Amino acid sequence: MIAKRLKKFDSSKIRMAFEVAEQISNPIDLSIGYPSNKTPLHIKAAGIDAIRGNHTRYTPTNGTTELRTAIAKKLARENHIKATSKSVTVVPGVTTGILLTYLALLDPGDEILVPDPYFPPYRDLAILLGAKPVLINTYPDFQLKATDLKARITRKTKAIVVNSPNNPTGAVYPEKELRAIAKLAKTRGLLVISDEIYEHFVNNGDHFSIGSIYPKTITLNGFSKAYSMTGWRVGYVHGPLEIIDAINELQQYTVFSSSSIGQRAAVAALKRKPSRITSEYRRKRDMARKTLSQAFEVHGCQGAYYAFVKLPAGTTDMEFVAKLRRLGVIIIPGSAFSKRNNYIRITYTAPNRTLAKGLSLICEVASPTRKLHHVRRPRQLISLSS
Ligand code: PLP
Repeated sequence: MIAKRLKKFDSSKIRMAFEVAEQISNPIDLSIGYPSNKTPLHIKAAGIDAIRGNHTRYTPTNGTTELRTAIAKKLARENHIKATSKSVTVVPGVTTGILLTYLALLDPGDEILVPDPYFPPYRDLAILLGAKPVLINTYPDFQLKATDLKARITRKTKAIVVNSPNNPTGAVYPEKELRAIAKLAKTRGLLVISDEIYEHFVNNGDHFSIGSIYPKTITLNGFSKAYSMTGWRVGYVHGPLEIIDAINELQQYTVFSSSSIGQRAAVAALKRKPSRITSEYRRKRDMARKTLSQAFEVHGCQGAYYAFVKLPAGTTDMEFVAKLRRLGVIIIPGSAFSKRNNYIRITYTAPNRTLAKGLSLICEVASPTRKLHHVRRPRQLISLSS
């Protein structure tokens, strides 16, 4: 009964983490990528005001003028991208933004370069559309290099996917390499699709937007991570007008419009910077890196809020994840994000006490004979909201 195209992709490993979390009472959940904080109060208030003020109808397909104008200003000010309210379209989250961008650009047989490990929709949605995701190996340091991309470009290549800071590896690509990737894309006439949802989660230095130097970039971003709004479902796509117009046409028949309430809340979000994120997450990252490095080699981990580590030889990710599940710890097997099956992804946004316990158990299972040092927990996060 179900269309054959669905057989082509497999979301079971991440779905499994959701299901396991529901079955275990009080799990140590280091699986799904929720930020630590709750949605800030002023954003919630804007959402409540939107309901009270009857802002509950469809909005224009590409989003309200107020939100698109605020996003365009933000992109110009913070990302140095030449944006206008017309070159932005509001979507119900970056995930939908990826689907719409792919639908607008990819014909069957087209190739798209995707760094491996990857956020699963980059690969699976291309397959769903009959396009070919060409996986670029970024192991072991998880850096995407222009030279590696160059070697895999063919006449069918249409676009390069860039995701920095990266999920699942936490890698941050240096500006120099992003400039080299932009140069390569320009020389070969390729589009760049840059997912910058973790732009505020860079532990050292500043985030660099490839769209600031290469106009054929489709920049994807949203409110889920920086403003702890994963459930509000608001994101946006910026890019060349022709592509944004095509995405709007597709939205007309699929999304119709993003949530009117979420959009009002997003306008309130953009009025303030998510200021304390970096220092708070750096402390958690430091704890994760210190603890994990007692049992694993840790690469990446420069941003976002994930650690992606290699398991001891002879252990598969599914076996390791099952062992931890028996101890009440939930993590995601690396093969949910990669061709390889000997890595695991750990999300380090949990409360500090929970995180410390989970990390110790992960290390003990990986290295049962080694005596682990106690890593002091950082101060508890200051709650930005209630
Ligand atoms: N892009 C990346 C790289 C992600 O890791 C995630 C969520 O984990 C998303 C996009 C999802 O964003 P949204 O909530 O806006 O759909």
